[in-house]
Amino acid sequence: MGNSDFITQIIKFINELFHSLNSGYLFFGNGWDFIRYVIDIVVVTMLFYWIFMFVRQTRAWQLIKGIVLVLLFVFFCSIIGMDMVSFLFNRLLYVFAILFIILFQPELRRVLETVGIRTSGQVKGIFIKKANDANADQTKAIIKEICDACGAMSASYTGALILIERNTKLNELAEQENAVHFESTVTSSVLQSIFYKGSPMHDGALLIREGVIIAARCHVPLSVTMHELEKSGTRHRAAVGASELGDTVVVVVSEERGTISVAVNGRLFEMSSAEELKANLSYLLGVAAPVSHKKGAHGKKKGGNAMPKTTQVEAGGIQPQTMEVLTRDAADIKGLQKVSNGQKVFFFIISLVLSLTLWLYIQVQNNPVVTRTITVPIQYETENMPQGIDASRPVKTCELTIVGRQNAIGNISPSDVKAYIDYEQLDVKSSGVYKLDVKTESVLGRYFRVERQLPENVSVTVYSVN
Ligand code: ATP
Ligand code: MG
Repeated sequence: MGNSDFITQIIKFINELFHSLNSGYLFFGNGWDFIRYVIDIVVVTMLFYWIFMFVRQTRAWQLIKGIVLVLLFVFFCSIIGMDMVSFLFNRLLYVFAILFIILFQPELRRVLETVGIRTSGQVKGIFIKKANDANADQTKAIIKEICDACGAMSASYTGALILIERNTKLNELAEQENAVHFESTVTSSVLQSIFYKGSPMHDGALLIREGVIIAARCHVPLSVTMHELEKSGTRHRAAVGASELGDTVVVVVSEERGTISVAVNGRLFEMSSAEELKANLSYLLGVAAPVSHKKGAHGKKKGGNAMPKTTQVEAGGIQPQTMEVLTRDAADIKGLQKVSNGQKVFFFIISLVLSLTLWLYIQVQNNPVVTRTITVPIQYETENMPQGIDASRPVKTCELTIVGRQNAIGNISPSDVKAYIDYEQLDVKSSGVYKLDVKTESVLGRYFRVERQLPENVSVTVYSVN
């Protein structure tokens, strides 16, 4: 499809739309149709809104803005007839589409995984009411052990990489050939002895599933995201990479700098202390409620020393962000960017407009308003006539021109429409010639309007049969 074709199509669509809307309420159908349409539009609006919100929170956002600008530019060029731009654009469109998918494969993967995780989480939530207290206590104990170990390893500049599984199962890591498989409870001393420099298992990542260490020396795919990863070391890059595998929470201790960081959702946060690590792990693993940011409370921690909001790390690289203990917003700690209410309203309106436009387009394309002409037999309903009187049946059929939606009347047949003369409509008492209306109605509740009817009325002769 050429670009100019595209614009011709838009103009054609607008023409057809006006033509369809001219037929008024017919376009919108009867009550049931209307309810169906509204549900349809609401569902698609929510879908668009969800996509917008998701994209807004990822690095794809900047790119999307760029794409929209390019599209507007190309649209403008083709309107004023700049053929070469349109030509080039049409040739490159598919290349861009494929590039986009390749570049954003981790994001796309995460979108689909998020859908799976959220849905399965919600379904689980319906059947299993809340994690039980025993589980929460176990999780708290494990968090304490991890934090103790990380505190000690940070002090001794021992490198460590700990992956804590949540819903996404990392079997492909656990089952690697060179990974060491075992089962061990999570304790501070076990963790420290694994990452101790002389240990044969200190290299690579450690995997914790359901509170048990199940593997060590796992090799993690490095992050491929566009953040400035060039300068950062492989351990931190692996940490970010692991956090991109679904909803895994990663704790990494730097051998060079002794810092502790947490990676979630493809972002790395540097912790100021083992305490901060504990607060954040508790939240991420669901055993503590997030404490959201009170406006104007920056840097004021309960019982703690104030600390700068963000610190750049001299060693460069991924640019970890410092989290304040329990003063970060829930969205932030989960690695998502905040979306303001104004933006939400904006996205909602755009989603609604897109959904409505798409709906109109589909209706006009697939289910336009059409006209049909059919010939229907006339039924003479004489049951209600007074006794001893009969009437002539001068006309057998009636020709109808009806207007309605393609789905409703596209394949309509004479048996779907009833044309009749009802003798109740006139007070037929004695012989004579009466002019009676031919009435029509839809048999199967198909929704249409009669545009033209031939004949509209019939003169019948009423006579006595005695
Ligand atoms: P540090 O701050 O601890 O030095 P770094 O981010 O600078 O970390 P490197 O100095 O390159 O990273 O650390 C190398 C160590 O990171 C390796 O010895 C290994 O234990 C671990 N590591 C590197 N790549 C991976 C990987 N893909 N999967 C798991 N562990 C890895
Ligand atoms: Mg290093």
